[in-house]
Amino acid sequence: MKRINEIFYSVQGEGLHAGSPAVFIRFSGCNIRCPFCDTVHHDGAFMADEEIINEVAKYPTDLVVVTGGEPTMQLTEEFVEKLHELGKKVCIETNGTREVSRNIDFITLSPKFEFVKKAECILTYCDELKVVYNGRNDMSLYDDIVANHYFLQPCDMGNEEENKRIMEATVAYCLEHPKWRISLQTQKILQVR
Ligand code: SF4
Repeated sequence: MKRINEIFYSVQGEGLHAGSPAVFIRFSGCNIRCPFCDTVHHDGAFMADEEIINEVAKYPTDLVVVTGGEPTMQLTEEFVEKLHELGKKVCIETNGTREVSRNIDFITLSPKFEFVKKAECILTYCDELKVVYNGRNDMSLYDDIVANHYFLQPCDMGNEEENKRIMEATVAYCLEHPKWRISLQTQKILQVR
């Protein structure tokens, strides 16, 4: 059994797969507590693997995003294998504090060590590294993480003036460090989840 917050079909808003239809499996629970987190960690219903697989199978996309919370707390290689048997590509969104199942197809790493002391990142490689940028990050902290794609995502402060400052800082950083490119939360523009 796995504790699941929600399973829904939508469009991936961020990173390399932005714009791609995907089934999202949102696992309940996280091993750290970020001050800005908007996830209700104790929420969710217990579902058997087969129930989850049957729900995922209802949707026509071959892309599945496992997210949370922190999905590595519940995800197993066996479960990923079941998704593979359905013909799905499995992407994970993780804070990098725990090992990731080896048969995952795509790792999005979004470390939280800048915000939470005990959120030490043990992953040194990922497919995409996503840093939430507020214009004041110490970017040298990410030097040791090797990724295929590096994304800087402007932090949404819910304040127009602050967001404008952060957006400008994000553009300026990428222009100076072209290894990084900008990831926008296009789900907010598209008004999807
Ligand atoms: S790692 Fe993600 S889910 Fe966990 S507390 Fe931080 S923002 Fe929330």
